[in-house]
Formats: sequence, structure tokens, C-alpha cells
Amino acid sequence: MTQPAPPRRKGTVLRSVGGVYEVEVGPNDVYEASLRGRLKLEQRTGDRVVAGDHVEILEHEDGSRTIEAVTPRTSELARRSPRGGRRAKVIVANIDQVTIVFAAAHPEPRLRLLDRFLVVAEANQLPAVVLVNKIDLVDPADAALRFAPYSAAGYPVCMVSAQTGIGLSAAKDRLCGRETVLTGPSGAGKSSLLNAIQPGLGLRIGEVSEVVHKGRHTTVAARLIPLECGGHVADTPGLRELGLWGIDRDELRELFPEFLPLRLDCRFGRGCTHIHEPACAVRAAVDAGSIDRARWESYAAMMLDDG
Ligand code: GDP
Ligand code: ZN
Repeated sequence: MTQPAPPRRKGTVLRSVGGVYEVEVGPNDVYEASLRGRLKLEQRTGDRVVAGDHVEILEHEDGSRTIEAVTPRTSELARRSPRGGRRAKVIVANIDQVTIVFAAAHPEPRLRLLDRFLVVAEANQLPAVVLVNKIDLVDPADAALRFAPYSAAGYPVCMVSAQTGIGLSAAKDRLCGRETVLTGPSGAGKSSLLNAIQPGLGLRIGEVSEVVHKGRHTTVAARLIPLECGGHVADTPGLRELGLWGIDRDELRELFPEFLPLRLDCRFGRGCTHIHEPACAVRAAVDAGSIDRARWESYAAMMLDDG
């Protein structure tokens, strides 16, 4: 008589540490597993199994556990190598949205950096949300005005204060039950927000995306933080260090959503770079004030960038 095959359990990879994968198989139930056979070979390229992957794990008689299969991904946040070199490197899988946290003040928001985060989200075809934190430090009307170009471009903008709790329930609603990459410059309040949304998480202030600089090319693997209200927040250290992630200039004009409705109105149509061409509808909209000039300047700077 043959033994029935031991059952496989389905789970979500929270992170990997030195070849050991932490796989969440249920609420507060995390297994450690290693990769088996073919998967192990394929992992040599580095991204066969990443945080966010849905996997099947097998429990062996000796108590060890192995990842046997990976479910096809619904989405990926990937970094492409510049100038069409090696293929993209996947940072995290099965993500629903990118939430970019910026402080309304302290530090002063660098909106050109926000534009870069948004371009990375767009290039990965992930919806982006802007969370403006520390709203307690400014006049909310001023903050609304400052971030108005982002609402105009179609991005949801939420004003919150991790400190006073203003806007927190709306922010929580955006995160619960979803798979979210939470990013933004350090000091914007990502750790504080997560602690406020999920008391007991006990993240040290500054803990989210604390990048350990061991050298220029150090990237720290992503990790998923389970939310009690459902879903996960993915912390992707180093996301902001990555410049434009090898995004092709020819693609860039597609990554500013407010340009898209106008592109057929440019004299050169889809071929228009919106930089120097005559009769450019995007530049006309900038002059008319219906597209934010600073957003266009960000775009122009990225087009000229050689990063
Ligand atoms: P992170 O680097 O993005 O994780 O930011 P932290 O959560 O570490 O916060 C950076 C600093 O901003 C800390 O000193 C926090 O106490 C402070 N901070 C965070 N959220 C708020 C807020 O809503 N209002 C104010 N006034 N300060 C905040
Ligand atoms: Zn144009």
C-alpha cells in the first residue's frame, strides 16, 4: 500500500532571509521553507520566488518544508536594467497598489521625487495612491493646493496625520484587504503610519525601508507585513534609490497619465516627445495651466536624465 501523498499547503511568501523563505499559511501562522529542485536552480536568476509570491509547500517526514510550486503572478514590481541590458529584476509579486507617503512638511516634500515614484508605479502598471502625512503641521488648504496636480492627474490623494489620527480611517480603508507597496522618502512617517493603523505592530520609528548601505549596489530584499484587517504592506527598501529603474525614454510619455488624453492632438501625434516639437498639445496645456508646469518639468528632466 502506498501512502497518500502528504498534503500541500498554500501560502504567501513574506520574505526570504539567506535562502530561508517565510511563508504565511494562515493568520499568525508562518512556516519556514526552502526551495526544492527545479525552483532552486531557477532561483539563481534571483527572482523565481520573491516576497508576495503565492506558493505551495510540502511538509516532509523529518519536519522540513519545501516550496514545491509558485502560482503565476498577477502583477510584479520590477526593476529593469538600464539600457536594455539584463532582464527585469522582480522585487515583489502580486501587488495591488503602490502607496507613496510624503510628509506635508518636515521634511519639505520634494515633488520631483514624488513624480519619479509615480513613474515607477506606472511603468509597472500598478495603481498609485499619494498619502500626504503630517497634515497636522500645515494648513490643510495649503497642502491640498500643493498636491492638487496629483489629484488632477488622476491619483487619489489622502491627507493624514499619524500623530493626531486625522484621515487615518480613510488611509486604513485604502490598505485593508489589499497588497500594497508602501514607499516614500525616509522621515515621511511610514513606520508611524503603520503603527497607527495597526497598534501593536511595534515598528521602530524609521524602521520601514531602513536601508543598510553596504555599498552602492546593495539592495535589501522586500518583506511583506501582514495587516490584521487583511492584506499586506510590502516594505521595499531601496526602492527610492533606484532612479528611473531603466525606464525607456520612449515609454516615459505614456507614464504621465495627464498627458495621455492630449497625445493625439500634438502635430506629431504619438511620436511627439512633448519637449521641442511645434504644435505640441501637452506644452500648450502647460502654458494654458491645465497641466501642471512642474509635472511637465519633471518629465522633461527625466527625458534628459541619463540614469
Ligand atoms: P519613516 O522614515 O517614513 O518610517 O518615518 P517615521 O515613521 O520614522 O517618522 C519620521 C518622524 O516623523 C518621526 O520623528 C515621527 O515621530 C514623525 N512623524 C510621523 N508622523 C507624523 C505626523 O503625522 N505628524 C507629525 N508632526 N510628525 C510625525
Ligand atoms: Zn506633444
